[in-house]
Amino acid sequence: MLESVFQSVPAGIMIVDKNRNITEINKVVENMTMKSKEQIIGKKGGDGLGCYNSLTLLECGTGHICESCILKNSVEYVLNTGKPLFNVEANPELLINDEIKKPWLRLNILRTIINEEKHAVLIIEDISNEKINSNLNNKIKAKEEEISKLKECDQLKNELLANVSHEFKTPLNTILATIQLLEIKGLQSINTNDEDSGQKYIRIIKQNCYRLIKLIDNLIDIGKIGTGFFEMNFKNENIVTLIEEITLAAVEFAKEKGLKLIFDTEIEEKLIACDAEKIERVILNLLSNAIKYTEEKGTIKVNIYEKDQKILISIKDKGEGIPTDMSEDIFQIFRRVDSSFTRKNEGSGIGLYIAKSIVELHQGNILVKSKVGKGSEFIIELPIRLIDEVSNEAAAAYETNVERIQIEFSDIYK
Ligand code: ADP
Repeated sequence: MLESVFQSVPAGIMIVDKNRNITEINKVVENMTMKSKEQIIGKKGGDGLGCYNSLTLLECGTGHICESCILKNSVEYVLNTGKPLFNVEANPELLINDEIKKPWLRLNILRTIINEEKHAVLIIEDISNEKINSNLNNKIKAKEEEISKLKECDQLKNELLANVSHEFKTPLNTILATIQLLEIKGLQSINTNDEDSGQKYIRIIKQNCYRLIKLIDNLIDIGKIGTGFFEMNFKNENIVTLIEEITLAAVEFAKEKGLKLIFDTEIEEKLIACDAEKIERVILNLLSNAIKYTEEKGTIKVNIYEKDQKILISIKDKGEGIPTDMSEDIFQIFRRVDSSFTRKNEGSGIGLYIAKSIVELHQGNILVKSKVGKGSEFIIELPIRLIDEVSNEAAAAYETNVERIQIEFSDIYK
């Protein structure tokens, strides 16, 4: 009965003595190795199974490589300790029918006593197909994740197209309508001084051209941020003067809406490594938002101070505020508190996404504290660190540029 069980179980059974010499095998082992019982019995484990490494050795277990052989070590462990081992997985290189194969084997190894001698019983399963399936499953999972990421990208691109088309159309329609008005009034009206003069129309056209430039600049930057090619030009700058200059350049734009823009600082001077032009974009974006989302008359405060080895720049308004559940969302691309086409203010929901990316490229952080109806405070945290200036001598010095500011503020006034 035992012989029948021994031969009929669907796993290979191999018995080795205390020297790892094979003393018994069943039919499955013969089939696995494509060798007859006579060719296997009496041989060391690896030699019997056809271990490819054993071929160049005097005997299985004598080579340097054999020290890390999982089969040999497991059998020796069981023989020495008497403790069984279950589910040992091995991937030996075997010469089967003159062909090198690398089957995946799973073994259960137990110690038994035969004729008063310690023997190890090895139950061997060929799990190559299982392994192939699990590898395939892993590959399928990875592909599925890739597809879902691509779908997300595709959705984002569709959103981008829908948003961008609308954003392009609004200023273009305004430009076209203004040109038509100019045509009706005649070009000579440009030189008159009345309130409805051609000068006003030229201003509107210019304003909307700036909006288009801003949109295109933002789109180019989104692409660069997404592909990791957003180039930074770090220099050690006095961050206090930098923020003060940017704020001063924006005072006139705030005034046009009857708003006061006040700069205050707790520190006189602080050199930190930053890209001045990129920081300018962040500050201008925050200032233009503060102006845009504040009703006429009011004060916007820019403050700069030092805390925990960081420079903190705060831009505080008393405007419409942001609902708490949106305070993280607004930094994501295209997220706006009011995204309806009938919204009060123009904007694409790209500015804060770029601002956050720039601040993070400075190893900094940006956050907002806000209450609906009370106002918002945006805080930028920049680490205090310096760079080796010699390595970046080519970096151009920062200069404020009126046109850059006009572009950034282009969607405040229609
Ligand atoms: P947008 O071009 O739409 O202003 P942003 O990315 O700069 O794009 O801002 C995203 C959204 O965050 C805005 O649409 C607005 O809803 C909200 N937001 C930003 N700044 C303020 C602010 N100072 N006060 C109120 N809401 C703001």
